[in-house]
Amino acid sequence: MRILLFGPPGVGKGTQADLLSKEYNFTKFSTGDFLRGQISLSSPLGIEVKAYIERGSLVPDDIIMRLVRIFLSENRDGNIIFDGFPRTMNQALMLEKVLGEVDMSVDFAVELHLDEEEIMRRLLSRQHCPHCGKIYNNVTDIQENGGICSTCGHTLMKRIDDDEAIIKRRIKVYEEETKPLVDYYKSKHVYRSIDASGSRDEVFNKISEIINEYTDKK
Ligand code: AMP
Repeated sequence: MRILLFGPPGVGKGTQADLLSKEYNFTKFSTGDFLRGQISLSSPLGIEVKAYIERGSLVPDDIIMRLVRIFLSENRDGNIIFDGFPRTMNQALMLEKVLGEVDMSVDFAVELHLDEEEIMRRLLSRQHCPHCGKIYNNVTDIQENGGICSTCGHTLMKRIDDDEAIIKRRIKVYEEETKPLVDYYKSKHVYRSIDASGSRDEVFNKISEIINEYTDKK
């Protein structure tokens, strides 16, 4: 099964992708996590994409599609959950083409919704562990304790793009570049919309219902 999770920044795509991949044995591919990993390694790709991410712009489609092609060539048969990909119509069309080449398609494109005020509140208090990737947030449900990761003991950090002006820009980019995917996936009958204002578990249960209903029918 191929599931896409999309939505504006701060709606909990990464958290839900982690929960779903554990529960259903999906392989998760987060383009954002992958790119941040490259930046922290100072690899040539990391150096190339750093400025885009820091100013809240999208990384060019050709770079993203190169990564996705490599990922798919290594994960041909499995259940895949894409977190934060595709983000443009062009990426969606290219994904369809690449999946089509191996007789696959997108089963669900799940959009998570949240109003701008709540996005801001969540993102301004978000921290993450640079070592294991665990996300902490004192306004949602994973509390941090003294700035140290409870899983691996590393010092927590804020993402450089979780800054008020950059968050506003990321939301605008979402509306302009990514929102058109809604009509596209509606036309493919795979679009689902989820209210992400509840707790982590409530949102997880709503997405699980969609997956369970689909697998029961098969
Ligand atoms: P995320 O972790 O999903 O919030 O992504 C963080 C940043 O990485 C975005 O603001 C973009 O700069 C970049 N990025 C992640 N995924 C994509 C994508 N599919 N297309 C273009 N840029 C992306």
